[in-house]
Amino acid sequence: MEILDGKKISNQIKDEIAVEVAQMKERGEKVPHLAAVLVGNDGASLTYVGSKVRSCKKIGFESTLIHLPEDTTEEALLKQVADLNANPDIDGYIVQLPLPKHIDEQKVLLAVDPDKDVDGFHPTNFGKMALDMESFIPATPFGIMELLRRYNVETSGKHTVVIGRSHIVGRPISILMSQKGQAADSTVTLTHSRTKDLKALTLQADIVVSALGVPNFLKEDMVKEGVTIIDVGITRVPDDTHEKGYYITGDVDFENVSKKASYITPVPGGVGPMTIAMLLQNTLLARERHKSKQA
Ligand code: NAD
Repeated sequence: MEILDGKKISNQIKDEIAVEVAQMKERGEKVPHLAAVLVGNDGASLTYVGSKVRSCKKIGFESTLIHLPEDTTEEALLKQVADLNANPDIDGYIVQLPLPKHIDEQKVLLAVDPDKDVDGFHPTNFGKMALDMESFIPATPFGIMELLRRYNVETSGKHTVVIGRSHIVGRPISILMSQKGQAADSTVTLTHSRTKDLKALTLQADIVVSALGVPNFLKEDMVKEGVTIIDVGITRVPDDTHEKGYYITGDVDFENVSKKASYITPVPGGVGPMTIAMLLQNTLLARERHKSKQA
């Protein structure tokens, strides 16, 4: 069994990006600039945005955090999005989800300029991704693909079972892994809450990508010997014995499933850090595309 070490690989990717940024600086060029919009004070969102901004600083990107109060109106947020679209200094930005209930998330995502949509959530980017065209690939599935690539995990002709059909993980990873290419060429089954006899499907899987958010959901008796496990789930479980009052866990019963697996991602330290690295990679791509458009 080999651990797919997302922390290690994400640091490698960040080091590679940092080298490119240093070269940009030496040439006197503008460095990539990522902005993040956060509405309200959701604990997990504050943590995610904080680590995205810190990572930007570490690798030499410019970063801007726009932290708006919980009661920000939809109109004010749309104005903020329009300002970011119009600001030539910003190469890419994200609007951290979830947004407060009174704001229509879809309306906001549709307002983001697809050329600055480094989260890859805009339908233009999602559509292009599905058609194998140049786009921004959502950071979490992009991170999973990169992890599989860098560990040379064989995916061609393998049966991949994806659990969960969300627009940000399950759906895009099922599309990407069924396409032609490296870390792809897989035969994909996309499962969800209405799937009948999930266990019969996961038992056939060479690769399981679990993205549902239920701790200990995927158990040893649901997978075959030699399986590759990608655990996307991140759940905060309240626990007073931990300093923060909670601990983080994935969807997989790691202790027992890992005994049967050839490869497995840990939580934390697997897909999570890869997501941030690929967001940075997308921002670098955005900078390069803007530069070639301006040339
Ligand atoms: P979601 O919460 O929007 O949806 C969950 C999905 O699971 C749904 O499609 C549902 O149909 C499916 N599901 C629920 N019960 C099921 C069952 N019994 N059998 C099969 N499928 C079932 O999904 P999401 O936003 O993709 O988040 C999933 C998990 O991944 C969460 O824990 C989230 O925190 C985590 N996540 C992690 C990262 C990362 O960077 N590692 C990024 C995004 C999300």
